[in-house]
Amino acid sequence: MERVMKQAAKVKDPSPHWVFTFGAGRAEGDAAQRDLLGGKGAYLAEMSRLGLPVPPGLTISSEVCAAYYRSGKKLPEALMPMVSEALNVVGKVAGARFGDVDNPLLVSVRSGSRASMPGMMDTVLNLGLNDETVEGLARRSSDRRFAYDTYRRFIQMYGDVVLGIDHYLFEEALENYKSLKGFELDSELGPEHWAELVARFKSIVEQELGQPFPQDLQRQLWGAIAAVFGSWHNARAIAYRRLHDIPDDWGTAVTVQAMVFGNMGGRSATGVVFTRNPSTGANELYGEFLVNAQGEDVVSGLRTPQPLTEAARKVTGDRRPSLEGLMPEAFADLKAACAKLEAHFRDIQDIEFTVEEGRLWMLQSRSGKRSMQAALKIAIDMAGEGLITEQEAVLGIDAAQLDQLLHPTLDPDSPKLVIGKGLPASPGAASGKLVFDADEAVHLKAQGHTLILARVETSPEDVQGMHAAAGIITTRGGMTSHAAVVARGMGRPCVVGAASVQIDLERETLSSGNETLAKGDVVTIDGSTGQIIKGRVPTREPALSSDFLTLMGWADRHRRMKVRANADTPADARQSLAFGADGIGLCRTEHMFFEEGRIVPMREMILADDTDGRRAALAKLLPMQRKDFVALFEIMAGSPVTIRLLDPPLHEFLPHGEAAIGEVAAAMGVSPQRLKRRVAGLSEFNPMLGHRGSRLLVSFPEIAEMQARAIFEAAIEAGRKLKTSVEPEIMVPLVTAKAELDLVKERIDGVARAVEKEQGVKLTYSVGTMVELPRACINAGEIGKSADFFSFGTNDLTQTTFGLSRDDAGRFLGEYTEKGIIQHDPFVTLDPAVGELMWIAVERGRRSHPDLKIGICGEHGGDPETIRFCEDIRLDYVSCSPYRVPVARLAAAQAALSPMVKPR
Ligand code: ADP
Ligand code: MG
Ligand code: MG
Repeated sequence: MERVMKQAAKVKDPSPHWVFTFGAGRAEGDAAQRDLLGGKGAYLAEMSRLGLPVPPGLTISSEVCAAYYRSGKKLPEALMPMVSEALNVVGKVAGARFGDVDNPLLVSVRSGSRASMPGMMDTVLNLGLNDETVEGLARRSSDRRFAYDTYRRFIQMYGDVVLGIDHYLFEEALENYKSLKGFELDSELGPEHWAELVARFKSIVEQELGQPFPQDLQRQLWGAIAAVFGSWHNARAIAYRRLHDIPDDWGTAVTVQAMVFGNMGGRSATGVVFTRNPSTGANELYGEFLVNAQGEDVVSGLRTPQPLTEAARKVTGDRRPSLEGLMPEAFADLKAACAKLEAHFRDIQDIEFTVEEGRLWMLQSRSGKRSMQAALKIAIDMAGEGLITEQEAVLGIDAAQLDQLLHPTLDPDSPKLVIGKGLPASPGAASGKLVFDADEAVHLKAQGHTLILARVETSPEDVQGMHAAAGIITTRGGMTSHAAVVARGMGRPCVVGAASVQIDLERETLSSGNETLAKGDVVTIDGSTGQIIKGRVPTREPALSSDFLTLMGWADRHRRMKVRANADTPADARQSLAFGADGIGLCRTEHMFFEEGRIVPMREMILADDTDGRRAALAKLLPMQRKDFVALFEIMAGSPVTIRLLDPPLHEFLPHGEAAIGEVAAAMGVSPQRLKRRVAGLSEFNPMLGHRGSRLLVSFPEIAEMQARAIFEAAIEAGRKLKTSVEPEIMVPLVTAKAELDLVKERIDGVARAVEKEQGVKLTYSVGTMVELPRACINAGEIGKSADFFSFGTNDLTQTTFGLSRDDAGRFLGEYTEKGIIQHDPFVTLDPAVGELMWIAVERGRRSHPDLKIGICGEHGGDPETIRFCEDIRLDYVSCSPYRVPVARLAAAQAALSPMVKPR
């Protein structure tokens, strides 16, 4: 509320601060103001403050974006004089003037939002050129070729971004012109050719628009500013925000910045550099550049960029010189700037730079997207270098993405038919069916296919398709190309620049030598080696890297909550321990009854007419259950194990079909007809809300007794073998009231006394309940008096709070998130209302039973946001599937270290 009022007051302020200048070693804004200035504007300001060579500029704050949309896409009147004034300041620093015929200032008009949305919004370069100022630029630079190349670039970009003319028309015109003149490369064109192309480009605009290309520079400027604000709502920006959970109301800032020119000839260049290797994390400069190029030329994939450093050149065997070799002074400055920025921001930086006639200019810096492997290595290295603390290293890793490291890798011993090799842009292995179109990838994914998307290069339009694919191949572009950067950010394995394979988009084939794969054929890629392999390759469990183990060790030092696993089988239990689980939080016993030789006695038990019949069948099941529990206790070697008594409705176990019914009837010595009647009698309208959980145990306490006996006898047996005491935790499902729990508990205690007497030992065990119904949360104060522990079963608690079955929700829940009725799928991320019920249960339970142990064992127990909430309400542990255990360990540490701050 307070914030809203402050904001309102700001907007009403007669002279709002909307424009922030930077350059020449100073700036009005800084890196902390990314909400207002966007990431790009804020970091440009900070770089300028740091004394790095940044072309001067001004940033129009994102508040103006809001105003622009509020007033029906109009820029506020008050903005114009502010920008004009700031532009004068910028011109003074740059030594030129906007619109000056002799010495024109050219600017870029750049987008930039609070969250990085690479390439999703628009940018216009070289603005400030018309038929007069282009001559001024030619005179000033004494280079007509450069001046007219710049002018045609401007017309093309402005035409595309502001005037809405398809850039393809310009590209086609350039290609036609080149073939007409017999040129192959752009570099063969002289000044007169570029001037002629400018004329052609202008006539394209006139043809498409029915109006000449705007010569009025003010109109150009305001047109571009409005277009950049407008690009906040272009389709791909909206789609990107959906994908990354970025609110629509943040808006973009606009930065207007003096141009520097990488296209001024052989001593000029433009490039991209990461301060460390974003794929492996190695501490080495990692980047690419192009001589005599501008802006997006490097990432567009149209020309193949050159390696930045000598070391990288040697690795790739590139014959062309590196920046280090070609422009040693600019390279040295770049290297120093990288070190300075990394030390200042204490994170790997992704930097855009341009060299204009030998002089370095910094154009952008942002925290670098990196693969999960790289993220780990960088965090650990930086902690080792003293750049960040151990806590910051733990906080800096995205827990939700950690499980990428647990994905299988290609089995090195299996034969592979490698059909091509590209650059290893994003690590990991993936197999899938080839698809060549991004939209089709989205479509096929929805039908359940696993896909590898193959493109010549990717562009922002392809992002959703990349997300839908399990892996990505491109045949052009380098390690900092769009495909590489986006794939690393998403954690998709990716091979780029695979020049030895050809993609035919018309025929939808990928070929190499005499191998041709068509759409739908299975291909495997290894993003760690760059290999493209025909068919599927077997995978194997990944070895956990020492970086991984180090970080996990740090996480364990800082977490308060225990992390357990939901594990039903010995294999699950072993996996849980391998991933560092502190115990088992949920062992479901029902699956045990489906095994070979067990289902028949189970069915006998269910279909028995009376208690005696049931007891006879249960007696057959007892040794089997006991054996399972012994195995589990032995593997867990004294770590806590929570076993849940039988939960599902009995009909799930019933025989269907003549053969199955006949078999059970024979075993029970009754007629099939009689058995059928009994089956029919057990059917329920709504079994999930029917006779299950504790209700079943209340009706048939002998089931609870058999299971309790199996557990106790197993605990004694395993304890003897392990020479330690095994203390089982027995969990009663689906309780709504204290009396219900008491009835079952009484039986369990009775069995415990009996077993103690039989075996002459003393048992230590606890009995608790799954809290999974709203009524249990409300009654938690009472229930807590009888329970030793609570474990939130958030799957059922979510279903019953919403009155919604999870199995039916899939059909329409997507619409609910799309329409904003709910924010997240409540079966993935805990719903706040469900959270509030948990909070009530914790409060009431602990009030009546101060040392009540409380955990969570629903699917949500492995979701980082839910884990944060569990820390906030002080649960003792979370329990999740074995493969989520590392994620949960890290998320629990992050929650403990900064309960209210989200990791980067
Ligand atoms: P994006 O957010 O899509 O990267 P940018 O605003 O960063 O868009 O700009 C696109 C390209 O133009 C980048 O390569 C950037 O370095 C370059 N560029 C932007 N402003 C200037 C400038 N003032 N001088 C030279 N190059 C620029
Ligand atoms: Mg950029
Ligand atoms: Mg349940």
